[in-house]
Amino acid sequence: MSDPRSPSEIAREALIHLAARHLPPTPANFQSCYNEIAGLPEAAPFPETQLRQLADALVPHGDVQKEALHRVATGIQGRSWMAVQEGLLAFVAGRDRLAVDSLPEGFSRALVRLLETVLPAFGEDDPRLAQAAQATLAELRRPGCEVLLVEQSLRRLAHQAAFAVEESIEVRQSLLHLLHLIIENIGELSLDDSWLKGQIDGLLAAVEPPLTLRHLDEMERRLRDVMDKQSRAKARSVEAQEEMRLMLSAFIDRLASMNASSASFEQNIESSAKRIEAVSRIEDVAPLLKEIVVATHAMAEETSHSREQLRDLQDKVRATEAELVQLHLELDNASALARHDPLTDALNRKGLDEALIREIAAVRRRDVPLSVCLLDIDNFKKLNDRLGHAVGDDALVHLANVARRCMRPTDTLARYGGEEFVILMPDTSLEPGIEVMTRLQRELTKAFFMAGKEKLLITFSAGVAQLLADEDGHGAIRRADEAMYLAKRAGKNRVFGA
Ligand code: GH3
Ligand code: MG
Ligand code: MG
Repeated sequence: MSDPRSPSEIAREALIHLAARHLPPTPANFQSCYNEIAGLPEAAPFPETQLRQLADALVPHGDVQKEALHRVATGIQGRSWMAVQEGLLAFVAGRDRLAVDSLPEGFSRALVRLLETVLPAFGEDDPRLAQAAQATLAELRRPGCEVLLVEQSLRRLAHQAAFAVEESIEVRQSLLHLLHLIIENIGELSLDDSWLKGQIDGLLAAVEPPLTLRHLDEMERRLRDVMDKQSRAKARSVEAQEEMRLMLSAFIDRLASMNASSASFEQNIESSAKRIEAVSRIEDVAPLLKEIVVATHAMAEETSHSREQLRDLQDKVRATEAELVQLHLELDNASALARHDPLTDALNRKGLDEALIREIAAVRRRDVPLSVCLLDIDNFKKLNDRLGHAVGDDALVHLANVARRCMRPTDTLARYGGEEFVILMPDTSLEPGIEVMTRLQRELTKAFFMAGKEKLLITFSAGVAQLLADEDGHGAIRRADEAMYLAKRAGKNRVFGA
């Protein structure tokens, strides 16, 4: 049944209700009273409790937000959606104002520190960048610095920095290119000196991007070694040349004196012959013959003496020559082979010993783990026997190359023995160390070794040991070796942890 009262009567009664209940005449309150009197279903109730919880959860910063929150509370009390909404919007606007005003002090200090650390890396060549940096730093150091101003300065700085970075990348590339040219040129100039060739190859590899400090460091050590050997060899070779010169002049003196004595012998003989022709009695010949015999004796003695001296000189020359050859050999070795295995370019034993000392000191200083792996190619003898030593050599090179691809730049590869390699992995504990070796096994199943047209799968057995607190490098290698031996015993082609 419909209500007998007219809508305007109901509206009037609703207003009386509002006043009697002391409710503010908001549209929501009016609607609620109207529905109640007209017997219409209640509209959605005003969620007072929830709104109060919401208002309680808001923490005001500054007067603007406090005032806004007060408006929200009054709105809730008066059940006025409009007032609640306005209060909330004012609260949010207050927060934006806060953010716009100033940068928190800790934040600006951190930015100053960051800029002060990073900016020196750009150098002082670019005045525009330096100016933008100074302006930004000044802005950040101002008490209560404004976010908008800081943002503008940072934007300008980023713009200048982008140019500077681009330029420095180009400069570095050009320098590298130049360095390449110079090194190649030196190499061209002295093709004969194989010891120099070793250095040149190493240098060219070292200046190949990406530049790593480790690589450059290694190269510097190699060069110093060569320079040291070279200067010693040079000094010795100057000495040896001087010795040769002295020997040569002695030799010439000797020859001259031999000439002189043989000339006087000839004269002796000639005059004796003339006198023999002149004698008429046989008794007169005897003393002349005696003279000839004495002269011949003297000549023979002189000749044998000279021969001995010449032989001595000859021996000395040979010894000096041999020494010079040896010096050259040493130089050859010093240049490229001193710390590197010439076949695989992995470190050799000497290189490994040095790397162990260096790496162990570094991991101890940083208090991080170091894993040491020893791997031994499976059935390598068979491969050699079937396909020849040269193919075996190529297989070793192949394994070293694939291993290098699986390793991190900070890892070290060394040839430990014939077909055994050691890998040092800093920052790596046992399990990840074993994973690296398993990855290398997988990689070898993809990167086949080609022996002519034949695809060969190279497998290896490996042991991995994590360096113990009181252990030296050789102790860790020994444990890795024992684990490797167990891996062989267990059927090969597997990786065991020590
Ligand atoms: P296993 O699986 O038990 O390790 O067997 P294997 O045949 O690999 O091991 P073994 O120690 O019996 O033989 C190693 C072979 O490695 C013998 C040697 O001729 C060969 N070898 C060592 N150094 C070189 C090298 O520089 N080049 C070549 N081609 N072969 C090498
Ligand atoms: Mg072996
Ligand atoms: Mg083997």
